[in-house]
Amino acid sequence: MVQSMTKTDTRDVMSTIRQIKELEDCGCELVRVAVPDGQAAQAVGAIKKGTSLPIIADIHFDYRLALSALKAGADGLRLNPGNIGEPKKVTAVARAARERNVPIRIGVNAGSLPKTASPELTTAQQMVEAALEQIKLLESLDFDLIKVSLKAFDVPTTIDAYRSIAPKIPYPLHIGITEAGTPRTGIIRSTVGISTLLYLGIGDTIRVSLTAHPREEVIAAYEILKSLDLRQHGPVLVSCPSCGRAEVDIVKLAEAVEKELLNIDKPIKVAVMGCVVNGPGEARDADIGIACGQGKAVLFKKGKKIATIQEKDFLAVLMAEVERF
Ligand code: SF4
Repeated sequence: MVQSMTKTDTRDVMSTIRQIKELEDCGCELVRVAVPDGQAAQAVGAIKKGTSLPIIADIHFDYRLALSALKAGADGLRLNPGNIGEPKKVTAVARAARERNVPIRIGVNAGSLPKTASPELTTAQQMVEAALEQIKLLESLDFDLIKVSLKAFDVPTTIDAYRSIAPKIPYPLHIGITEAGTPRTGIIRSTVGISTLLYLGIGDTIRVSLTAHPREEVIAAYEILKSLDLRQHGPVLVSCPSCGRAEVDIVKLAEAVEKELLNIDKPIKVAVMGCVVNGPGEARDADIGIACGQGKAVLFKKGKKIATIQEKDFLAVLMAEVERF
């Protein structure tokens, strides 16, 4: 499942609901909200009234926030039992979560490993050790609605950690690369890490963490899933890189088509190709495509020419055909 996290102040219920709606519109399936104080925990209840997406409360240190968020109706908790403190506090949270059938994600981050971590171990091993310890703690409280994540900024560390823990535990894994950066580099880092894990059959929920509007995280997550043929979600754009044979500005046209496709929900493969000579052949499996020549282009459907169009109509005619498909 595709997860993202709101970047609004959780206490600002209206803005948070608005952002969740934006996420829902682009296919997000689970939303996490930060719960830094009591007011934010209370707000979870009001936020839930304004959305049908499951809401996960992100909690650190104060177990009372977890209890309040659960009372307010949170559908999931993300916390580190390790930073909640005394066992009786963790027991109270686990009991309240079990009563409501609410899962707890143990979210281990390479940047905040427990001080008790064994220094002779690699970072990945320390992350696994921390997660196993916390799993043991919850299991000892007879709690098994557990999810686990082991995120690092370093991609090989993240992959090592997940590969190591996957065969050891029966619980779902939430995967991602933490603090991956702005979209330009963050999407690449996340894609390398998440795709490698998914290809190994590891990962049940994913989050692409980006320093950007969370909508970008959801779009990137789906592109990863689509690239691996794990999900169909909206259109796929095939576009040639352009070369000396192109006689129109393919970069500009492909960008315009990509923008228009954001408003289309159906799974359709659309091709934007730079020349009539190789275009349709190179994009043979596209549903609808355009292969451009000087001043005009060939519109093709499933590799077969269906019309010739003038340059001024490229975008409009292509999109009309996409709508009709
Ligand atoms: S489709 Fe034509 S213009 Fe585009 S890269 Fe291939 S040969 Fe070059």
